Amino acid sequence: MIVGIDDTDSRKGMCTTYLCAVLVDELKNYGEVSTPRLVRLNPCIPFKTRGNGAVSFEISIEKEEEVKEEVKARVRELSELNEEGTNPGVVFIGDRVLNTISVKDEERLKYFYETAVREVLTLEDAYAIITDLQLDYFGLKNKRGLIGALAAVSFFVLQRNKPDYYDCTYELIAYRKKDNRGKARVIDETSVWDADTATYPLTWDTVDAANNKIVFAPHSPCPVLFGIRGDSVDAIYKAYGLIHAEPEERKMLFITNQGTDFHLIPLDVATKEKMQDYHSYVLDGMVCSNPRTIEGGHVVFSISLSDSGTIECIAYEPTKGFRTIIRKLRVGDAVRVYGSQKNETLNLEKIDIMELNQVEEKNPRCDKCGRSMESAGRLQGYRCKRCGTYRADKAVVTVDRVLEKGLYEAPPVARRHLSKPLVRMFEANKKIHPSR
Ligand code: ATP
Repeated sequence: MIVGIDDTDSRKGMCTTYLCAVLVDELKNYGEVSTPRLVRLNPCIPFKTRGNGAVSFEISIEKEEEVKEEVKARVRELSELNEEGTNPGVVFIGDRVLNTISVKDEERLKYFYETAVREVLTLEDAYAIITDLQLDYFGLKNKRGLIGALAAVSFFVLQRNKPDYYDCTYELIAYRKKDNRGKARVIDETSVWDADTATYPLTWDTVDAANNKIVFAPHSPCPVLFGIRGDSVDAIYKAYGLIHAEPEERKMLFITNQGTDFHLIPLDVATKEKMQDYHSYVLDGMVCSNPRTIEGGHVVFSISLSDSGTIECIAYEPTKGFRTIIRKLRVGDAVRVYGSQKNETLNLEKIDIMELNQVEEKNPRCDKCGRSMESAGRLQGYRCKRCGTYRADKAVVTVDRVLEKGLYEAPPVARRHLSKPLVRMFEANKKIHPSR
């Protein structure tokens, strides 16, 4: 049986991954439990608590009812039910359904998962599948968590028979002892830098060297002590072994869709007419307004899209040094931008600078005296007042650019869970400039 859970936490405490870790540990008494999945869903959803995460795991068991009751009891007990935005949902896919699932039903689960990461769904969308596939479920309050719970079980079903069905990464999360929660986290910073040095780039987003910050531990009162992300389970455990920190209550390894860019609607699907807020895109275009820094330190510029229309792009102040790259762009540069649309502006996560505009048109110089010629009037060419020489067109000069082509990204301090770090992007003939 596969179990999916979502929306059990609030900003004041708890974490759905912790509830999952507790259940995975406890349910081992009933049967074999799989490595749990942690899926990040649409990062733009307004009612998310933090990272819009949902979890799922599989348990091999005959007595499904007993396990269901245990799961429900833990969800009731550990959810932050007094908080307004907490609306738990649990979805079960029992062995009877799993063993008879049709290709068409699998397609529906695939569509639901992918839509949950990229679009905005309703509870009715979730209920339609739950009813048609006769899935058992459990919800509290308005039950909105059923959307995330169904997306998490769908991801599991799709990966179950084909583990490489979707690109995925790993995160090992360590959880705090109850007495320590709410207090400052005790983590030996030097050991974290050492662990990063020993395992990067197989682990990533542990530290942000450019901004001199450790980024793998939250600052909230939630039970998470820290999380180590990466592509290699061995490297993650090696890093874990090097880190000195307060004693933990437990730890759990998750298979995740973090760091995969799965939220980005690809180039061939994104067209200006179809683009909407709360969606994330990859777009090709040409810089059509030079970057400018606005109040708050954010940097904005516009691109004309290759199909039609223009869109404003923004690198927010928290993206720190990424803005230095963006400020160097110039009208005429060909770029591919990656980010989420909000208020009709694309919030940049990454940029591929594909072609630099090295051409500048200037008033021509006089052949005789070498001075700059002046315009002789609209569409009337250029004239040197001293020598009387005439030139019909502007001079075209090549400008040096202090910007290298290639892919650039927001630094780890400002990175979204789903954003694929450049150390994971291997594109032929493409220079990557990873931010670390
Ligand atoms: P945490 O990261 O701490 O686990 P969270 O950020 O995951 O918290 P939730 O408390 O899970 O936030 O709230 C997100 C809510 O949004 C859930 O109820 C989930 O079912 C719902 N949801 C997730 N993705 C979508 C989507 N694409 N469309 C509509 N609702 C969604």
